[in-house]
Amino acid sequence: MTFDYDLIVVGAGSGGVRAARVAASHGAKVAIAEEFRVGGTCVIRGCVPKKLYVLASRFHDDFQDAAGFGWRVGDVSFDWPALVAAKEKEITRLSDLYAETLASSGVELIRARATLTDPNGVRFSNGRSARARYILIATGGAPVLAPHIPGIEFGISSNEIFDLPKFPQRLLIVGAGYIAVEFASVFARLGAKVHLAYRADLPLRGFDDDLRSRLCEALKTAGVAHRAGALPTRITKNADVLAVEMSDGAPLEVDCLLIATGRRPMTQNLGLEAAGVELRENGAVAVDERSRSNVESIYAVGDVTDRINLTPVAIREGQCFADSVFGATPTTVDYECTPSAVFTTPEIGTVGLTEAEALAQHGAIDIYETQFRPMRATLSGRGERVYMKLIVHGSNGRVLGAHILGPEAGEMAQLIAVALRMGATKNDFDATMAVHPTMAEELVTMR
Ligand code: NDP
Repeated sequence: MTFDYDLIVVGAGSGGVRAARVAASHGAKVAIAEEFRVGGTCVIRGCVPKKLYVLASRFHDDFQDAAGFGWRVGDVSFDWPALVAAKEKEITRLSDLYAETLASSGVELIRARATLTDPNGVRFSNGRSARARYILIATGGAPVLAPHIPGIEFGISSNEIFDLPKFPQRLLIVGAGYIAVEFASVFARLGAKVHLAYRADLPLRGFDDDLRSRLCEALKTAGVAHRAGALPTRITKNADVLAVEMSDGAPLEVDCLLIATGRRPMTQNLGLEAAGVELRENGAVAVDERSRSNVESIYAVGDVTDRINLTPVAIREGQCFADSVFGATPTTVDYECTPSAVFTTPEIGTVGLTEAEALAQHGAIDIYETQFRPMRATLSGRGERVYMKLIVHGSNGRVLGAHILGPEAGEMAQLIAVALRMGATKNDFDATMAVHPTMAEELVTMR
């Protein structure tokens, strides 16, 4: 059989772009199809713009805290359109950079929607079609708007919140995962009255309970009103105002409703059925440890496979796919000790097992924890506390999990993940010299 390409990648997000570039570097003839902007969720409407907004929101506390350090700050105000415009400029720069990198790597960028016609055939929305030895599905995920209640269509997802034409003075956020708590923290500091409604008793199910309860308190201190166990039951719109009936009987009036109830893999209308690709019950492409689907020529990486839905994981999966299929080094992704951060203020950094998971898996465990006032708070007067917890195997002393709530927790989690992957024990932590004065030194001085 003759092919037009060795590889066609569907979707130019983090995973797809990495796979395309690496495959091309191994000598493959590669095309990548993207119907929207190059960069995917992370660059266009996820990690990057989100972190820019997080940084913007943190000036709120900085201006207040400056007084304790002798600074006299005049009247400050926040300009939402200015932030939106600055963000747009930056993500356009990054998106262009991604496109340039694809070009310089020899990857052909096809700006069209791709649909599979069979295990090797692709039809593009620009009328072209092509055949490839391999096809990589890297279409990512999309927000799910739940629960299904009257008026849910008046809500928006994280896709839209970045570019709201007007700053929402009153914001209701539904859900309590990464996206919900991050935007609650951001918008509360930018000046909105934020309500967070979720079905559980605490936000961030799946995270260590000590982080969950402390983050909940910290968000309350920042002005976020928590509606634990309460969800909207009906939404009506009158002019610009949303009237929201709630399951706990206490209605709300808001300017904006952000639905952050999770994301689903984008596998609809891609022709996967025509190609014979098996999907899991939740719509994700079912793949093996080398990211191969049940169809020999079709692979998938990133959120569309719903393994660990994080950008660095998608990138690693894309790299391993390209190295395995086009390079001389077949590899699989090591998902162990995948660290993650939640960019609330205070931030969460976490790696390894939660206390509940460690107990269930190992039985005997030792817990080390510390809570302290960061140095900055001594002069700022802010009542913030840093919390750190190490979960240690009861007999061999191996550190099974590390959980931090406080400034730069994400940065710390990145480095702790190296130690945990190498099998560091509590003794290794203790034997490591501290960097003083830092917050991270507490990690090696916990008794
Ligand atoms: P999550 O899966 O993290 O959270 C979904 C939230 O929605 C949970 O609180 C869940 O509640 C709730 N929920 C789900 N269905 C319903 C329903 N029918 N009614 C009411 N509540 C519901 O999703 P996110 O949207 O926050 O984030 C999506 C993914 O994006 C994450 O999994 C993460 O991988 C990634 N992400 C990572 C970030 C980072 O690394 N910092 C930042 C943002 C996103 P319950 O817990 O009770 O099920």
